[in-house]
Amino acid sequence: MAGVQTAVALREQGFTGSVTLIGAEPHQPYDRPPLSKAVLLGTAEGSAFDVDFEALGIELRLGREVLGVHPAEHELDTAEGPVPYDVLVLATGAEPIRLPGAEGVPGVHLLRTLDDAERLRPVLARQHDIVVVGAGWIGAEFATAAREAGCAVTVVEAADRPLAGALPAEVAAPMAAWYADAGATLRTHARVRSVEPGAVLLDDGSRLPADAVVVGIGARPATAWLAGSGIELGSHGEVVADDRLRTSAPDVYAVGDCASFPSGRYGERLLVHHWDNALQGPRTVAANILGGATGEPPAVYDPVPYFWSEQFGRFVQYAGHHASADTTLWRGDPTGPSWTVCWLREGRLVALLAVGRPRDLAQGRRLIEAGTPMDPTLLADPARPLKAAMA
Ligand SMILES: Cc1cc2nc3c(=O)[nH]c(=O)nc-3n(C[C@H](O)[C@H](O)[C@H](O)COP(=O)(O)OP(=O)(O)OC[C@H]3O[C@@H](n4cnc5c(N)ncnc54)[C@H](O)[C@@H]3O)c2cc1C
Repeated sequence: MAGVQTAVALREQGFTGSVTLIGAEPHQPYDRPPLSKAVLLGTAEGSAFDVDFEALGIELRLGREVLGVHPAEHELDTAEGPVPYDVLVLATGAEPIRLPGAEGVPGVHLLRTLDDAERLRPVLARQHDIVVVGAGWIGAEFATAAREAGCAVTVVEAADRPLAGALPAEVAAPMAAWYADAGATLRTHARVRSVEPGAVLLDDGSRLPADAVVVGIGARPATAWLAGSGIELGSHGEVVADDRLRTSAPDVYAVGDCASFPSGRYGERLLVHHWDNALQGPRTVAANILGGATGEPPAVYDPVPYFWSEQFGRFVQYAGHHASADTTLWRGDPTGPSWTVCWLREGRLVALLAVGRPRDLAQGRRLIEAGTPMDPTLLADPARPLKAAMA
């Protein structure tokens, strides 16, 4: 996503030099969100980007893994030989974390790539017993599709609630009920001890029958290939970019799931693994590549992060970034079909999560962007438009 968007943004912004997009996967570049939704259920064949690379003068080199980079020589290593560059953009994304001990066990799946989704499609069609490891975004979306396909689904989660890494307990609590509503079993405090063909064994001794196991326990930046390059990596293995998305090496940028950037808006470094970041970041990268040549003022990347998830018949959207010290405020009943939770810092909206309330999301995103002071009493009234709750 971020690689394609960078190439397209370069052309849109008037770059006339040669652009080469190298990718390890053999497929025409494609979008990932449909993989856990329509592609999995077979209602969409694929999700290739609607981009005419040839017309844009973008050279695609697919099925080619880049093995290393030598910033001083401005050169990449590939199995086919060295590839020189003037400017390099790192957009290698993230790879799913594997479940220790489960690798190589028949019937164990990940869900990151088109190949993964295509392997899972017939599994769903067989309507088997499926165990999902991890109640995060991917686990919830996969469980949704598997229930829709008529599978028996058990989701095991080591934490005490779904989305424990992303949301505080009070916000995630109502989401736990969504699993049962959809006919899926959610088992929290459940640690996997081992996986064997046909079953998952938990720490408490229980044995869950599993014709298939889908592991969704998170992803980490795909940066192993940068080892020894001298390009600075952060504590999560991500490329450390600056506010213009430049890395520590000259003429090397990084964008998308593989890179973190310092957020001026939130006063901390953010590593975002969501689609919108792989859409917005590339525009900044392209502007800075072009600006470097024309002397334009630098483009600073300081977005209000945004993502969505479709799970258990609900449209979940989040904008901004919250910290544990921020105040939460509810709009609507969290046991009902639609509600929003807002996070406030010094009277201003810093983040919101909207379930089935896209208008709240759209208005909230603009209010976060503008840093508008809000009136908490007005904000708590779900009948009042969010934008009418300004202080
Ligand atoms: C199943 C699924 C569903 C999702 N749904 C949503 C959603 O609903 N909403 C949302 O906001 N986000 C969603 N996301 C997240 C979103 O898709 C990602 O944030 C986005 O794809 C990141 O783009 P990227 O270009 O940084 O990484 P990627 O899309 O992962 O692309 C990186 C590419 O680099 C290639 N690569 C890696 N290393 C090398 C190498 N050494 N040499 C050559 N090529 C290499 C990889 O093969 C890959 O094709 C979803 C992700 C998945 C997996």
